[in-house]
Amino acid sequence: MSNTKAYSAASATSPLSPDTIQRRDTTESDVQIEILYCGICHSDLHTVRNEWSSVMPTTYPCVPGHEIVGRVTKVGSGVTRFKPGDLVGVGCLVDSDQSCPNCQADVEQFCPAATFTYNSPDKHLGGVTYGGYSENIVVDEKFVLRVPENLDLAGVAPLLCAGITTYSPIRRWGDIQGKKVGVVGLGGLGHMGVKFARAFGAHVVVFTTSPGKKEDALRLGAHEVVISTDAEEMQKHAGTFDFILDTIAAEHDINAYLTMLGVDGNITLVGAPEQPLAVSAFALLFGRKSISGSLIGGIRETQEMLDFCGEHNIISDVEIIPIQDVNEAYERMLKSDVKYRFSIDMASLKGE
Ligand code: NAP
Ligand code: ZN
Repeated sequence: MSNTKAYSAASATSPLSPDTIQRRDTTESDVQIEILYCGICHSDLHTVRNEWSSVMPTTYPCVPGHEIVGRVTKVGSGVTRFKPGDLVGVGCLVDSDQSCPNCQADVEQFCPAATFTYNSPDKHLGGVTYGGYSENIVVDEKFVLRVPENLDLAGVAPLLCAGITTYSPIRRWGDIQGKKVGVVGLGGLGHMGVKFARAFGAHVVVFTTSPGKKEDALRLGAHEVVISTDAEEMQKHAGTFDFILDTIAAEHDINAYLTMLGVDGNITLVGAPEQPLAVSAFALLFGRKSISGSLIGGIRETQEMLDFCGEHNIISDVEIIPIQDVNEAYERMLKSDVKYRFSIDMASLKGE
């Protein structure tokens, strides 16, 4: 075991502050990674503040972070795919049973024994897993991703969650070439959704509550931007969408977006508000519409997404911050003031 510097929260009401955690020694199949950048996902905030207590209560201390990019520093004797010096990524998953039907179908995120990068039981050290707001991490090689060498690393980190979480449902929907696709909420997930939907040839419309994000939405790839608080603007698009990706992190009226869908249209939720959303049956019945959910993506698809980003030069638009600014970043995230993902420069942790 080794002592590792990290930032943790001691309770749902504590700020994140410097801490020392333990990382395991590499086993035969493990890769040890020096973390260079870690993105800040809204899920980190939900977890740190125990907002998902009814579904996934938080164990403290909590070290969040599941958008990890770094360099391999050591590998176990049985590791075949990585060597020291390789650029790699780790997302939301660090283990699964590898044998259940979901693992065999490459959707390890639905494995009953899936181990998430933080706040999951740690089968090696006991307690819970600790995430990427730390100097290094030790992960089984099956859950380590290859990072294309041509991309800016600070902008790659968010691909490991925001990227795969939006890429996966867009791919799953089918061929969106020429289809009208809505992205609701222009935050970390939303801005990646815009980039992917555009890359796959959709007509992309952003729904935002922030008029100040309009120019950025167009620059990121949207064809149109709708201010969702403007009823008249919303009405113009009623009944016209094939697919909508809803990334909103807080309670909101999903019926307003069901109204936007055409016949057989689908809205997929990736945002995870703590409270249930009320759905009008009629908003679904008229038009045979459907609501789905989607959770990150499997390891194979995450690698496919990273390779796609490498080929198409896609990264997240990031604001790089030192770890010391993480609490302020959380407050800004709550105000929808993120352009469009915070990426923590982990070199800042060395001075702690
Ligand atoms: P984020 O960067 O904070 O973005 C969320 C955006 O939603 C905001 O920028 C804002 O966009 C909009 N929004 C926020 N509050 C709103 C409100 N009250 N009403 C309407 N719009 C609101 O968060 P994120 O990291 O993208 O995460 C979004 C959600 O997805 C979180 O709940 C997170 O936990 C969840 N998530 C799910 C998965 C998964 O696998 N399903 C993976 C990662 C994250 P505008 O300013 O444009 O309105
Ligand atoms: Zn996330």
